[in-house]
Amino acid sequence: MPYLKFYQKERKLFPEEAIMRVSDKRAEIIFRKLERHFIDSRRYPFGLRFYGNGGGSCGSWGIRLPHNPTILFICHELSHRIHQIKYGSTKRHHTKKLMTIIKRLITYCQKKNYWKEEIERRMTPKPEPLPKLEPTKLQIMEAKLGKETLAVKRMKERIKATQRKMENQEERLKKHERLVGYYEKLFQERVLDSRNSSTFQ
Ligand SMILES: [Zn+2]
Repeated sequence: MPYLKFYQKERKLFPEEAIMRVSDKRAEIIFRKLERHFIDSRRYPFGLRFYGNGGGSCGSWGIRLPHNPTILFICHELSHRIHQIKYGSTKRHHTKKLMTIIKRLITYCQKKNYWKEEIERRMTPKPEPLPKLEPTKLQIMEAKLGKETLAVKRMKERIKATQRKMENQEERLKKHERLVGYYEKLFQERVLDSRNSSTFQ
């Protein structure tokens, strides 16, 4: 089939996809989706480039698409690749076999609703996580001040308690000293008394 006639036929068969343009980014996602589904892309790694606004091409290195291609354009160029893998490289590419491949690709795109929802999800930027509240230098200083103030208060309380304890001990010491004085005096008096009584008895 001459290529112009082929183009006319595919446009007639897929009028919606012939005018449905997508951005390069979306085109790449769709291309990779199709590639993954229809070709073992790990075995046949294929390049994808965007160039100009005219035609596309399919070479051994990969596929070239115009910027903002239509869905039909993407499917058309990829179908050449599938044709290559399936039937080998032949000169006559725009055949009924190729049209069958395009049909399969388009049907798959329609079934998946052109991955519109998924692409939308992927392209919506994730909400930024809430910024971590870094303590400011002033807040750090305030916290340190609070900590040190509390330490001073506790130390003062401890010193007071120790002082009270010492005062108590000193009072007990004085009491004991008084008792020692009292008993010493009493003792000496008794000693004197006993001496006197023994002398004058
Ligand atoms: Zn072609």
